[in-house]
Amino acid sequence: MAPEDIGKIAKEYVERNRGNLYKEPRDHVSSWHAHELCLGCGSCISLGRRSKYCPGRLRLDQLTLLDDLTWGPARNIVSFTGGDLACQPEFYAESAKEIKSLGEDLWVLFETNGHGLTPENLDLFRDAGIDSLWLDIKAYDDKVHRNLTGASNEWILKLPAEIIERGFVLEVSSVYIPGWVETDQIRKIAELLAQVHPEILYAIIAFLPEHKLKHVPPPNFQQMVEAFEAAKDAGLKNVKVGNLGRFVKNMEEYEILFNIGAI
Ligand code: SF4
Repeated sequence: MAPEDIGKIAKEYVERNRGNLYKEPRDHVSSWHAHELCLGCGSCISLGRRSKYCPGRLRLDQLTLLDDLTWGPARNIVSFTGGDLACQPEFYAESAKEIKSLGEDLWVLFETNGHGLTPENLDLFRDAGIDSLWLDIKAYDDKVHRNLTGASNEWILKLPAEIIERGFVLEVSSVYIPGWVETDQIRKIAELLAQVHPEILYAIIAFLPEHKLKHVPPPNFQQMVEAFEAAKDAGLKNVKVGNLGRFVKNMEEYEILFNIGAI
């Protein structure tokens, strides 16, 4: 596949959704803001009525089945996510140029663990028109980070400032892994982000036991609430929790998260 093919796919996406494409402003080019529009419960489709938690921001014809098989809006955003893509920066820079050359007001989001975001690649992405970076900060503690990823986080922790300085929209996520990355580290990551800009978007994701950490359980409800509150106390204004299916056991807990603004 060549960057021109990515441009063709983006064009097909626009054509398919032309009547119902939800146009986001540039500062909403994030996964975080998709949840401001729709929580993906599917109630309006499967039950014919909106859930009481529905943000009520979308017409029903603006909902579509997304590639992760949840319901949500087709937005004017093309996202590059999954694995880590920054080992091929030129490909994505050229692809972003193809997308922008369509003249369809599409924004471009790029997700990464940050290891490929050297200053040169950040400049390359900015100049190619990539609008938003979704940065996974795996751990604040360097030793834990090395154990999880095999590499130091020294540069990763400098990236939020480098990214904001270059005018990208920034969304950060961290996975709560019991025994590895808990509230103490999440608080420190949030403090670091708040010092760069208190409105940086931050998502705390519940761990899903897989691969070599299959024996580690997901966090419980209390742990996730504590992590959320620590991130807010650190000065961040925009914090949410994710992967609710791993730690929310009933509607009462869901309602608590809703009421404290964690979803
Ligand atoms: S618009 Fe989204 S949040 Fe609202 S009821 Fe439909 S699926 Fe649920």
